[in-house]
Amino acid sequence: MKTPVPDYLDEVLDGLRGDTSGATADYIPELAEADPERLGMAITTTLGRTYAAGDADTEFTIQSISKPFAYAAAIIDRGLDRVLGAVGVEPSGEAFDELSLEGGTHRPKNPMINAGAITAHSLLVGAQASQEERVERALAFFSRLAGRQLRVDERVCASELGSAHRNLAIAYMLRNYGILDGDVPSVVEGYTRQCSILVTVRDLSVMAATLATGGVQPVTGERLLDPAVARHVMAVMAGAGMYDAAGDWLTRVGIPAKSGVAGGIVGVLPDRVGIGTFSPRLDSHGNSRRGRLAFERLSRDMGMHLFASD
Ligand code: GLU
Repeated sequence: MKTPVPDYLDEVLDGLRGDTSGATADYIPELAEADPERLGMAITTTLGRTYAAGDADTEFTIQSISKPFAYAAAIIDRGLDRVLGAVGVEPSGEAFDELSLEGGTHRPKNPMINAGAITAHSLLVGAQASQEERVERALAFFSRLAGRQLRVDERVCASELGSAHRNLAIAYMLRNYGILDGDVPSVVEGYTRQCSILVTVRDLSVMAATLATGGVQPVTGERLLDPAVARHVMAVMAGAGMYDAAGDWLTRVGIPAKSGVAGGIVGVLPDRVGIGTFSPRLDSHGNSRRGRLAFERLSRDMGMHLFASD
């Protein structure tokens, strides 16, 4: 590419500013208040170099982008077999908050929808862990992935907890089937706190680059995951990361990714880069509209489609 990367990223973002379609998430009152014009993007290479543009240092809540990383932590803490016993790896093809459980086992279909993510959160640390220990585990792990100390946005967390009826219903159903142990309100509160951790697109790109390297944080050099865990998590993201648009995303963009309702998207291209985008307006699938367009453009211009042979 002839244009320097930062100029190219600025140009990509400028090309998106005219698109004002979609709307901020309104089921969490605090998110509805977000500035819809915010737009940022960052790319981190597996060598630890970050390129950023736009609102690259604006913090927003990680929301569902926490799911692949908390899932990785649950696998580290409890082993893959224990986690697979509770949560499947099949794309559900349904919305993020669908109560979709497998027939027979009653396992949530995958850890990228709420049912599976609440279960993965409940598995953190160990069988008898307290809510504080699980949240601290998520916060500490995410902070090491990002390479800086992260924190919880208490306002967004309280705002979501005020209307968490659906997640509570999902968790009670899982408790009924013996998939989830422990005190349901405490597990849902811990999961909601995990979703309320503040990140920037820079953080997301470094976190994703850590998956891309097979588990070594490319800036600090610390090994945080085994290659097998990184591979497993990226594969699940590819199949189920984009809610009910996962198949469309994989064919069109071809970058394993996970979106969150605050407007973030994280993407990872194995052995190459981690990518983070932020723009709060969401499309009808609950994915950031401009974030999606940014990923489509990057995939096209930089030959990032996982299955491209040209
Ligand atoms: N905290 C949100 C929830 O569980 C996350 C949803 C999302 O980002 O998709 O409803």
